[in-house]
Amino acid sequence: MISVDEHLDSVLAQVEPVAPVTLPVRRAQGLVTTADVHSRVDLPRFDNSSMDGYAVRRADLEGASSENPVVLPVAGDVAAGDQSQHVLAPGQVWRIMTGAPMPEGADAVVKVEDTDGHPHEPQLRVHPDEGAHIRRAGEDVRAGDLILPAGSRVGAGEIAALLSSGVTEVEVVGPVRVAILSTGDELVPAGEPVGPGQIVDSNGPMLEALVRDAGGHVVHVGHLPDDEGATKKQLHRMLDHADLVITTGGVSKGEFDLVKKVLTGQGSMEFVEVAMQPGKPQGFGVLGRRDVPVFTLPGNPVSTLVSFEVFVRPALQRRAGRREGAQLARGFATTGWRSSPDRQTYTRVRVDRDPTGAYAVSPAGGAGSHLVGPLAVADALAISEPEVNEVSAGSELDLLLLRPRAEIDARLHAEGQGDEAGEDG
Ligand code: AMP
Ligand code: MG
Repeated sequence: MISVDEHLDSVLAQVEPVAPVTLPVRRAQGLVTTADVHSRVDLPRFDNSSMDGYAVRRADLEGASSENPVVLPVAGDVAAGDQSQHVLAPGQVWRIMTGAPMPEGADAVVKVEDTDGHPHEPQLRVHPDEGAHIRRAGEDVRAGDLILPAGSRVGAGEIAALLSSGVTEVEVVGPVRVAILSTGDELVPAGEPVGPGQIVDSNGPMLEALVRDAGGHVVHVGHLPDDEGATKKQLHRMLDHADLVITTGGVSKGEFDLVKKVLTGQGSMEFVEVAMQPGKPQGFGVLGRRDVPVFTLPGNPVSTLVSFEVFVRPALQRRAGRREGAQLARGFATTGWRSSPDRQTYTRVRVDRDPTGAYAVSPAGGAGSHLVGPLAVADALAISEPEVNEVSAGSELDLLLLRPRAEIDARLHAEGQGDEAGEDG
């Protein structure tokens, strides 16, 4: 048996980011840039007003105050989007709106609050500073400035910054197209009638959700019968269409465990026993002309989930050029439980808070890796090291979170408020 870290290191050493592609900015959401991006333009693009008010020549307002307002005639209105270049003659003002271009000759804006707001002959009650309420061209960004360094994940703010800077396309690590294949004659696709001896294929849709959640692009969720020819054919088709392939089932020691049989000796494929519980039988390799990483995960749903979190998620992130890693936390065991000797044990736990505010964890359901029911209430996997045979109540553990921390904290907060309301009432 090899350790979890040994297997993870070997997987990550073989996984490369997918080839870069150039995409329109809006379609690059969630993807990681491969080159520095610089602004094409100055921002703001032109001098404009930051307030609704009047564009003025300061010299005309010498000594103006609330007690001694200066009244000047309005030459016209400049709205945001006005494309003509207006000129401000001495002794006049332009009524101007936020974002409208400054008329030539104006050197300040008096905001409407410092006037009576009159449309034609306003009383102006201040002598503004030079450049007051003017947003100068280029004061935010200069043409050529770095907007987004290589390795940035494109999100809402990045999209706004890029498009404002005149950038319409970006080069990013391509979307990771993931194919998922469930194997086993006993499986029935969700929604179809389940006959005697059959079960619903839950791994396929579960992995689909996990892959999406990790930022992958699911291109195929399929099912393979326990048939050597069909397995071979489908797996090879996927190597042409996907950037990462995940199979579940068919890698144990059973007579019909054909995935292992079909893939043995292909590419860098290796089938190993990892010192972990659940998830011991793991297969991984890089296959085909396009060096596609292939994971063959054990079929028990809990083993599939744990294997995904421990090996596939980090590999998927690496393939996407991302580097955020697993969501980890620490928590204290509320009760004791047994842990597999000589194996790193991942126990599904529910997270609560202890009186000090720390995470307190208790097992969600039994230890069997076929137990799907408790998956719905598990918030995290509590990790106990191979040398630990028994987790004792009160011990502190590493947690691999199965939900965003904010979601767990929001639930705990809501439950805490419920308790208080109960006490008050
Ligand atoms: P296997 O690794 O093929 O021997 O499967 C191990 C166990 O996991 C068996 O009880 C299977 O029925 C179950 N299993 C395999 N694949 C799935 C799946 N896609 N969804 C739910 N259970 C599965
Ligand atoms: Mg099977």
